[in-house]
Amino acid sequence: MQPILTVGSVAFDSIKTPFGEVSRVVGGAATYFSIAASFFTDVRMVAVVGDDFVEEQMRVFSGRRIDLTGLQRVPGETFRWKGEYSFNLNSRETIYTHLNVFDQFRPVLPESYRPTPFVFLANIHPALQLQVLDQVSAPQFVAADTMNYWIEGTPAELRQVLERVDALVINDEEARELSGEANLVKAARAIQRMGPKLLIIKRGEYGVLMTGDQGFFAAPAMPLEEVSDPTGAGDTFAGGFMGYLAAAGEITEAVVTRGVIAGSALASFAVEDFGLDRLLRLTPAELRDRFDAFKRLTHFEAL
Ligand code: AMP
Repeated sequence: MQPILTVGSVAFDSIKTPFGEVSRVVGGAATYFSIAASFFTDVRMVAVVGDDFVEEQMRVFSGRRIDLTGLQRVPGETFRWKGEYSFNLNSRETIYTHLNVFDQFRPVLPESYRPTPFVFLANIHPALQLQVLDQVSAPQFVAADTMNYWIEGTPAELRQVLERVDALVINDEEARELSGEANLVKAARAIQRMGPKLLIIKRGEYGVLMTGDQGFFAAPAMPLEEVSDPTGAGDTFAGGFMGYLAAAGEITEAVVTRGVIAGSALASFAVEDFGLDRLLRLTPAELRDRFDAFKRLTHFEAL
């Protein structure tokens, strides 16, 4: 089993969906990622919060395999984001993004983090993703996420990140925007030419499409009666996926495909309630049952 290092946002989120609304709840890409990955392995987090992020908020991390030595608390306000979803939850409008303490953040990795072999550059300014990657002594497998905010705002830095990662995990809309291709297969090929050999395209309620050296692998999303809030589903998927790979300690076709199912199983819980609520209540036994449910969902006897 290998540990994972991650850098990304830790946030106060405000979320509005057709099924309810919450404000100033703990969120952030690195938060969802770390909680998900910690079901499988030890996670080392690099991020920054403001002095408004206190004991009560820190509780989401406690009792989990998450090392917070690299989480800085500085004077100022924590990153804040607000999103609003359409009726079918497939599209989302960002109402605001306030970088706040992330604006001045210069990550310095604790000495104990430097030898971490598995690295996930969660969604944040690509320059910060690069600064973190530069400080890891011998990364074996590096994956990244990003979003339209950075694709549009910092394209040059993002290109540098792509040149240095083994895998990219992004959603379909972002894949189209990044590549300039409407067709997802062509988009995937174009993104692979930018660097990442393994590409996972998240398609919301339609599941994920992975492409790499071995061709395509697809996983559906679990059909669920209760879907309240998709926020963080992508980061949760990435946490389950990378956590599974790091726990296995090797990258084989079988491990990577099972990792896709592990990520999909975790993400299927994340959407059942608002913010982090369902993930925080999740037990390992429930996760195993859903992994099995995925096996039944996707299995068929070929003639
Ligand atoms: P997802 O639903 O997977 O796109 O992730 C939503 C999470 O990403 C929320 O918890 C936000 O706090 C965080 N987030 C939103 N916009 C950004 C951004 N531009 N950079 C970093 N994190 C962000």
